[in-house]
Amino acid sequence: MHSGKRALKGPASLAVPLTSLLAALALLLGTPASGAFAATQEPGAVEGKTYTIGTDTTFAPFEFRENGELVGIDMDLVNAIAEDQGFDVEIRSLGFDAALQALQSNQVDGVIAGMSITEERQKVFDFSDPYFESGIQMAVAENNNDVAGYEDLEGKRVAVKTGTEGQAFAESIKDQYGFDVIAFAQSAQMYDDVKAGSSVAVFDDYPVLAYGIKSGNGLKTVTEKETGSSYGFAVNAGANPELLAAFNAGLANLQESGEYEEIMDRYLDAGAADSSFWSLVTDNAPAFAKGLGLTLLATALSLFFALILGIIFGFFKVSSKVVLRGIATTYVSIFRGTPVLVQAFFFYFGLPQLIGQPVDVLTAGVLTLSLNAGAYMTEIVRGGIQSVDPGQMEAARSLGLGYGKTMQKVVIPQAIKIMTPSFINQFVITLKDTSLLAVIGFAELTYQAQQIYAVNFRTAEVLLIVAALYFIVITLLTKLADVLDKRFNK
Ligand code: GLN
Repeated sequence: MHSGKRALKGPASLAVPLTSLLAALALLLGTPASGAFAATQEPGAVEGKTYTIGTDTTFAPFEFRENGELVGIDMDLVNAIAEDQGFDVEIRSLGFDAALQALQSNQVDGVIAGMSITEERQKVFDFSDPYFESGIQMAVAENNNDVAGYEDLEGKRVAVKTGTEGQAFAESIKDQYGFDVIAFAQSAQMYDDVKAGSSVAVFDDYPVLAYGIKSGNGLKTVTEKETGSSYGFAVNAGANPELLAAFNAGLANLQESGEYEEIMDRYLDAGAADSSFWSLVTDNAPAFAKGLGLTLLATALSLFFALILGIIFGFFKVSSKVVLRGIATTYVSIFRGTPVLVQAFFFYFGLPQLIGQPVDVLTAGVLTLSLNAGAYMTEIVRGGIQSVDPGQMEAARSLGLGYGKTMQKVVIPQAIKIMTPSFINQFVITLKDTSLLAVIGFAELTYQAQQIYAVNFRTAEVLLIVAALYFIVITLLTKLADVLDKRFNK
């Protein structure tokens, strides 16, 4: 029946009765069995249309990010089907539960997210023909030798993903085996909870566990997989029948042409990934390089503007005019008195609402860091000028030098010498603060790290690499600054 349909391994024998069962069930429920639309729909009803499709965030190998691009079996399938059937898709990577919510509230036209065709869901969604056989399996941390079966879960906690079949399965046996269930919105959080030892096990789809384990996510399986359902593409019940029909027709064409098999092979037979530390570095070198480049760019731009702000407001602060001193003091207290993270959120999410147009992430980031560092630079400049003994100003003035000349020839040269170590300090702080911009999606070094370990689960190693990169760059920059300092501030 589904000769072209693939499973990761193991007998396909269970799939046939299961799918026929589902079809029978669908008939019983009064919904036409999947595929039945194909005959009734006008061919070409989808042509030229654009459909919004919701998906999960990270559910490798079905959907995940590689160098910032959404890739995976589901992505390749839906794109190939769209091309085959002449429609366009706009993918929204929302998270599993969020994607189902979005579908129910008609914010997306369909969902492809390694979504199991279950009885419950068939009450509210219409599914395409199944395209992959799955099933739930339990996994535990690699170094956990205490849990070898469900019996060992007694009194412990297991992690699942909200709204998934894994969660439903865990809930269905938790009383029998006496364990607690905690649900997370994203796969990465669920896995991290197990690796951190807070949960002892995770219930997830076996092809996803197998792929993760092969990519070195630090887990292992100790039990057999449960027989589970197959994945299908979903639309709201009764809505977009032409899209469902096109999906089925496209899927059949891909299975016929061999492209379906190619897509599966691309992700499933890719062979065990080289899991050495060195390959982690080399494989991700382009992403690290891009991140480092953006980190340095944001640092350089921010420090440039911060220096200008610092000099202007620093002089305001030592000015005899109360208004100028007031302006500078207000500026410093606002930006020193609020967290950088809040400032970043404000400039990226808040400012666009005030000015009525979007602010791109580099602009928002540089605004944040310049204004923040500028406040500290203001204090450095003020402190530097004021630390020059006022007696020197008086002496120079009494010798007949004007205020400007005294500043230029006597006070400022000494002030710069005093300020230099503090400036270098601020350079280092600003460089490190760029990492906070990861939260607004600025693709600097820390952001790249998060993207990398969301896929390969090697959180500790990736963070160590990134920390080392920051450390090397900062050490080199401070050394350089020291040399320049010695050169010019003799
Ligand atoms: N196949 C599972 C389900 O449908 C999980 C899907 C997912 O996490 N993306 O519930």
